[in-house]
Amino acid sequence: MFYNSTRNSEVKVKSAEAITQGISAEGGLFVPESIPQLTLDEIKAIGDMKYADRAAYVFSKYLTDFTDAEIHYCTDNAYSTKNFETESISEIAHLFDGTYMLELWHGPTCAFKDMALQILPYFLTTSAKKINLDKKIVILVATSGDTGKAALEGFKDVEGTSILVFYPEDGVSPMQKRQMKTQEGSNVGVCAIKGNFDDCQNGVKAIFTNDDVKKALDDKGMMFSSANSINWGRLLPQIVYYISSYAELVKDGEIQLSEKINIVVPTGNFGNILAAYYAKHMGIPVNKLICASNINNVLTDFINTGIYDRNRQFYATVSPSMDILISSNLERLLYLMTDKNDAVIREWFGKLATDGRYEVSDAVKAKLKEEFSAGFCDDGQTKATISSIYKKYSYTCDTHTAVAVKVYKDYKETTGDKTKTVIASTASPYKFSAAVLEALEGKKSDIDEYDKVEKIAELSNIPVPAALADLKNKPERFNDTIDKEEQKDYVLSKLSN
Ligand SMILES: *Cc1c(COP(=O)(O)O)cnc(C)c1O
Repeated sequence: MFYNSTRNSEVKVKSAEAITQGISAEGGLFVPESIPQLTLDEIKAIGDMKYADRAAYVFSKYLTDFTDAEIHYCTDNAYSTKNFETESISEIAHLFDGTYMLELWHGPTCAFKDMALQILPYFLTTSAKKINLDKKIVILVATSGDTGKAALEGFKDVEGTSILVFYPEDGVSPMQKRQMKTQEGSNVGVCAIKGNFDDCQNGVKAIFTNDDVKKALDDKGMMFSSANSINWGRLLPQIVYYISSYAELVKDGEIQLSEKINIVVPTGNFGNILAAYYAKHMGIPVNKLICASNINNVLTDFINTGIYDRNRQFYATVSPSMDILISSNLERLLYLMTDKNDAVIREWFGKLATDGRYEVSDAVKAKLKEEFSAGFCDDGQTKATISSIYKKYSYTCDTHTAVAVKVYKDYKETTGDKTKTVIASTASPYKFSAAVLEALEGKKSDIDEYDKVEKIAELSNIPVPAALADLKNKPERFNDTIDKEEQKDYVLSKLSN
């Protein structure tokens, strides 16, 4: 299996190179040259494996330059009860008739990002060894709140790496901020940006492709890589849990082998839902992929009209990990949907950079309609949804998951579609305690963050994750805040320490 770049189809690298580089030199994203297929028999057999082996099975189709032993070294270390609260790694909760919550937040930082970021450091260090890379790998991360912490936990004290995370100063929840400021480890750094997530991400992408910075790095025997979902090594592990959950539902007799399901994903950077798209095209039977957004609904409009337009008001919402106007992974989807037309991808994403807007062809519009459905909801509806499913099903979900539940409810009402449905539950409710508690109690509360956590524990009966409870007593280590224009110099100054 080789990997091409979305902006230059001539680029052809092995997975070890795609993973260590993170992004292709000309700014494109790495995409496997074909999508490997699973038969229904293989999917059924996956249901009898433990999670680490399910993952290894899927990875073996994509990481063909890795040996079996290398793949199992990665999966066995990442997907164990050392790092995850539950034996199953990803849990399926049965919510109501034919609706399943795929809980992806039982890892060390309580968001689905752990599913990929617990394994990415193993992929990266194994890849570096395979290609005899003797450089130190510097991971630069832009985060809307959850990736940052998950990447810091994954990479802390990993030999041959260091990691620097940028987050929007006012764009993350108090718990997310505490998690990052108190991060332990000798190779980690965290810095707030006076701006939003898009500013952080644009800054990081520009630094990656800046020749001066690259040269400075090279002189020091270092290179950059990415832990954002622009890195294929981040996206690949996310394909696994969709296949795994399908196999699990078959095994449990909830669905027939070959029965189609819908998958609903609360979406920001389009990474998680793109992984679901890959799972579908590998062979799991899927009817619709449902893309759920908050009031930053650039993707809803795009899927419905084929026009991507980021020239709009940016809102800070109670689902901050989805407060994004530039969804990076759409580039991969469009590359696939244009049959790998790198010229047209360069044109559209060039327009996005200069005008903030592009319109896809009629053929792509038709494909979007066929594969996806999209919707959005505002903060009031998000909280009302948390409240109503709590009352109805005694189930407490976080704000991002609630967006997905609401969008799915609307979808079901307008289409009458009765297909069984998996909803990706992306974070623990404790990470967004203010909004969750407000929803559960029906009123705002001014008690402190940790008292809110206690209160949610009483109401929900979900045990407080140890990692969040511990935060209360940890000292803050990182308090830098900079302007977005200073990002490049900040990185350079950190490299010389
Ligand atoms: C990152 C994140 C999302 C959005 O996922 P994308 O892959 O960026 O689309 C949704 N919910 C939570 C809790 C997240 O952390």
